[in-house]
Amino acid sequence: MADAAEVDRAVERAARAFPAWRAVAPGERARLLRRFAQVVEDHAEELARLEITGAGHTVGNARWEAGNVRDVLNFYAGAPERDHGKQIPVPGGVDVTFAEPLGVVGIIVPWNFPMVIMTWGVAPALAAGNTVIVKPAEWTPLTALRLAELALEAGLPEGVLQVVPGEGEVAGARLVEHPDVRKIVFTGSTEVGKLIGAKAAEQVKRVTLELGGKSANIVFADADLSRAAESAPMAVFDNSGQDCCARSRILVERSVYDDFLARLSQAVREVRVGDPNDPASQMGPLVSAEHRERVASFVTQADVYAAGSCPTGPGYWFPPTVLAGSSSESFRRAFTEEIFGPVVSVVPFEDEADAVRIANDTAYGLSGSIWTRDVGRALRVARAVEAGNLSVNSHSSVRYWTPFGGFKQSGLGRELGPDALSAFTETKNVFISTE
Ligand code: NAD
Repeated sequence: MADAAEVDRAVERAARAFPAWRAVAPGERARLLRRFAQVVEDHAEELARLEITGAGHTVGNARWEAGNVRDVLNFYAGAPERDHGKQIPVPGGVDVTFAEPLGVVGIIVPWNFPMVIMTWGVAPALAAGNTVIVKPAEWTPLTALRLAELALEAGLPEGVLQVVPGEGEVAGARLVEHPDVRKIVFTGSTEVGKLIGAKAAEQVKRVTLELGGKSANIVFADADLSRAAESAPMAVFDNSGQDCCARSRILVERSVYDDFLARLSQAVREVRVGDPNDPASQMGPLVSAEHRERVASFVTQADVYAAGSCPTGPGYWFPPTVLAGSSSESFRRAFTEEIFGPVVSVVPFEDEADAVRIANDTAYGLSGSIWTRDVGRALRVARAVEAGNLSVNSHSSVRYWTPFGGFKQSGLGRELGPDALSAFTETKNVFISTE
């Protein structure tokens, strides 16, 4: 666990490594990132196993995540040669812009998708010519530490990518307040994100914030109800519900509410919860005993409409749970707060306007889904819901080549997609007189 002095030493190393790293020719930087991707591919199974050990992810998910790390590195390996500015017509000279790297970038990572979220920041930051320090979450540092070793093995110079495990309030806070760290990418709770935003403002430090969510899955009566109901459980229970994009509020048009609930309950009972090492498991345990206690505090038996099953032996197990049809205070709390566990709350709505009103009645705005066969309505509702990532007739997960981020208190800025490098560069404008 790094203390503040150790973070300072890491920042010093990163600052020292920066001038040489930014000067590496774009094609060479691209080649190093591609080699890093290849080394990750060569160690994909090992990384997946580490994530199962550290975070309890199912083996299917963990393998997908190792593949995502490789793909994100490869995608941004295509960026250095394309990180160009503009030439803008001006009288009396030539005007050009440059995309300059920022310097040392700090990336603070949560425990729910450790290696994936780390890489979403690391890959574009390195591609743009920055040096990077990652602060993994206290509970899940293993894959981050291994990835830093693999980066060295791939030939990235010393000091270009460092990992400092430590406590948020110590190591994380020091990264935020260190004057030589020019940008913070923070993924985590809205509560901590606000603190970091405020602290960073003192130095006008750049921030990207990826925060909490309470996303809506809106099901209209004209939807393909069986597809909507069968897909709804894993749209919230994937990674045991420890997913910022979890569609943890299901809004159903009243005329099909009972029908949908019956189908949903059936689908929830079929979710296979078990040993994360078993490829047949769809859902594993929660990350820790402490977190399980927090999740359990949201569930009052009187609000439970249906629940799946889970193992009873060692492990922080929690069954997939559906809360519905209640006007209790406990239901209201579960419906509005981010639970970050396998608990979904279902409510009926009257019409399109009512659905949009309920969906937007939250401080969050990260993702969501809309189920309808009416294309016009799908587009109207997708435009009306205040969230950064929506899918129609699907619950698509995040794609590394499309932008990702939140509206309102779900965040600030965007990651991934074609424009991610702009979050790791400053635009410099230069005028050259021809007079
Ligand atoms: P958290 O906010 O408790 O911690 C996140 C990270 O911040 C950890 O590394 C922690 O050590 C560090 N930290 C804590 N206090 C700090 C401080 N004062 N200064 C600097 N760093 C500090 O979040 P968590 O419990 O690890 O993760 C769960 C949360 O993350 C959920 O709210 C979830 O929605 C959110 N999340 C958001 C996204 C997204 O992309 N929007 C993705 C995944 C998770």
